[in-house]
Amino acid sequence: MSDIQQTDVAVIGGGPVGLATALLMARGGLSVTVLERAPLDIWSEPGFDGREIALTHHSVRLLEQTGAWAHIPQAVVCPLKEARIETGSFRHPLTFDTRGEGVDALGWLVSNNQIRRGLFAAAQYMPNITLQPGTAVQTIRQGQDYAAVHHTGGQVNAKLVVAADGRFSPTRQRAGIGAIVHDFGRSMMVCRMAHESPHHNVALQWFDEGQTIALLPVNGMASSLVLTLPPQEIEALVHMPREAFNAEIMRRVGNRLGAMRLVSTRHVYPLKGVYAHRFTARRLALVGDAAVGMHPITAHGFNLGLKGQDILARQVLAAVANNGDAGNPAALRAFERQHRKATALLFAGTNGIASLYTHDGPPFRQIREGCLRMADRFAPFKKAVTSLLMDRQPSTP
Ligand SMILES: Cc1cc2nc3c(=O)[nH]c(=O)nc-3n(C[C@H](O)[C@H](O)[C@H](O)COP(=O)(O)OP(=O)(O)OC[C@H]3O[C@@H](n4cnc5c(N)ncnc54)[C@H](O)[C@@H]3O)c2cc1C
Repeated sequence: MSDIQQTDVAVIGGGPVGLATALLMARGGLSVTVLERAPLDIWSEPGFDGREIALTHHSVRLLEQTGAWAHIPQAVVCPLKEARIETGSFRHPLTFDTRGEGVDALGWLVSNNQIRRGLFAAAQYMPNITLQPGTAVQTIRQGQDYAAVHHTGGQVNAKLVVAADGRFSPTRQRAGIGAIVHDFGRSMMVCRMAHESPHHNVALQWFDEGQTIALLPVNGMASSLVLTLPPQEIEALVHMPREAFNAEIMRRVGNRLGAMRLVSTRHVYPLKGVYAHRFTARRLALVGDAAVGMHPITAHGFNLGLKGQDILARQVLAAVANNGDAGNPAALRAFERQHRKATALLFAGTNGIASLYTHDGPPFRQIREGCLRMADRFAPFKKAVTSLLMDRQPSTP
């Protein structure tokens, strides 16, 4: 008996973007197989990984369309009412809020593992999605009519292979697609801290001298702490005993939220931005971090990943409706064009901001302060950034 499976779409990597892709393609009527390296228990119930994802309005609508939003408990969704940006001891924050926008929230914060759980829960009930955990891809052969994916459990022949295997995507490398890799030389530590004073649903991004701190509101009297420092300083903090850690963090945040207490595990992410030279090859498309791995400072990575897979799904479903081929080259070219347009400037801009705000020399500090002062006074700029933060564009087909 042959163990070759036939499918319209094979998704490599069952992270949040891979699962969202599978759901939108399957809801459009295609058969989808998702190959995920992690074992089933970790895939279906991922543990807390420190990331709180700031979701835009558009992303929430896309998660609703996938069916995943209904599986995310409302108790873990925290509305974001205001975002404040400060630099050094310069006490003139740049603020963005919902005033005049006709909405209650700029966006919503949800932890990454809750998003992943919601997507997995939605995917496991779709009859035309096959979930294959504990599966390592060995080779991919992209032929004229289909791509053959050889993996540890057998072979899948697919009309289209979607690489959603993260920013160091082995599939991208296998396909010989290079990438711009920007190493920021910093690490980011993320964890949850309970605190004495309320956060009022305000997110703070503070570019202090020698450190960058973000405090992101989560439900209850708690915030997600996001601290960026050189890797060796982060290493020391991660291994610091709890009491000393609490005291150190209160000192670093300038006692803004009263007494603080660590209430989660601590997680470290080395900061590297990645932008693939191409997003497509024959019968192959890159989505999520495999295509564009953003610096988290502007909170765009997953939002752009969702947007990209939405563009891909629309193009592929339209092509299937026309001529029946999910790997249609014209559809892939259209996806490439649109996704590049949606991401190229943001990627460059985010890298520029991240670099400007991690240098403390005199010209950088003055430029930062000047930028904040000007930006706060220039209403059209604030309006444009607020729109970008919320991303309220319609997403219905
Ligand atoms: C600290 C932090 C904060 C962030 N905050 C935000 C935010 O506020 N807003 C936002 O939009 N984004 C944010 N991001 C970015 C966001 O987390 C990522 O963009 C998102 O997780 C990318 O999802 P993905 O599915 O593309 O990749 P991943 O989450 O990396 O998933 C890849 C999946 O592929 C699997 N895999 C890898 N290799 C293979 C293989 N060979 N075979 C099979 N499976 C494989 C992995 O096991 C994994 O399940 C943040 C990131 C960090 C680090």
